[in-house]
Amino acid sequence: MALDEFDLIRRYFTRATPAAVLGVGDDAALVAPSAGRQLAISADMLLEGRHFFADTDPYALGWKALAVNLSDMAAMGAQPRWFTLCIALPKADPAWLAPFSEGLFALADQYGVALIGGDTTAGPLNIAIQIIGEVEAGLALRRDGAQAGDDIWLSGPTGAAAMAVRHRYGRLQLADADLAYCAARLDRPQPRVTLGRRLLGLASAAIDISDGLVADLAHIARRSGLAATLNLLDLPQPALSDEVLALPDFDVCLLAGGDDYELCFTAAPAQRAAVQALASELKLPLCRVGSMAAGQGVQVLDAVGQPLALAQTGFNHFA
Ligand code: ADP
Ligand code: MG
Repeated sequence: MALDEFDLIRRYFTRATPAAVLGVGDDAALVAPSAGRQLAISADMLLEGRHFFADTDPYALGWKALAVNLSDMAAMGAQPRWFTLCIALPKADPAWLAPFSEGLFALADQYGVALIGGDTTAGPLNIAIQIIGEVEAGLALRRDGAQAGDDIWLSGPTGAAAMAVRHRYGRLQLADADLAYCAARLDRPQPRVTLGRRLLGLASAAIDISDGLVADLAHIARRSGLAATLNLLDLPQPALSDEVLALPDFDVCLLAGGDDYELCFTAAPAQRAAVQALASELKLPLCRVGSMAAGQGVQVLDAVGQPLALAQTGFNHFA
């Protein structure tokens, strides 16, 4: 029997929600924000052919569609609470829907975030999630809070996800172990939600790296009215073979490859010990990679302190 729109929603996108919430099934969801907190609202769309390959594993797609949204909550220091899912599907195929919804809810359960509604329509595959979180009023991590003299930190290595994209496009050939690492970074990013929450009151600004390290850091620099300097040798490197790390493509991915979903944040030098303590507590390889100063733009210094000429800084849909 064919699956109609309402069966599909009931079967794959309806889960019990917390008692205080009216979730899927009415004309609108009802939620109550906590006292003293602001709502943080963000949306991200994934389109076949643009954000993912047509043959992408549906479990990975469900995971990633939510992960990229959770990453925005992380970058604001917000606690994710609720999300909606608007999905266009070429056909109502249980063999696709079951793993997609499993991947989606695996991550939703990990962060205690509830699917409270959405919209479902036939059409070319398109997945749009809107997420709503909460953050202590006035304490959100914004892009415009960096101060001259602040350190720049990264929550983990960049570049591997973009290397997986290059492999899938046939632009380079990764050996199995390198490919497994890069594909996991691309398909199953771990949003840094816990870190984001713990950076409230500690970091001065934050952004998640979706478009490329240099391009995303440039947003902090511009919004804060400052210049950012990165030291190439201080950037953490992914756990890849020496041959891959030596490829010219790798440096481009490290600095400008998107899809990493690590956090880049700034903090006063007085917070170094606190950030390092957080790194051990959360078991995250937080790395100090540069600093903010008067001026504008982002520069990357090489091993001898000379600025690199950057051909490409990140991904831009319309560039
Ligand atoms: P309406 O006709 O009022 O727009 P719909 O028939 O589109 O309502 O949706 C019925 C219910 O199912 C609503 O509560 C809506 O939020 C929910 N819903 C629809 N699609 C999805 C989806 N993909 N994921 C979660 N909830 C959904
Ligand atoms: Mg509707």
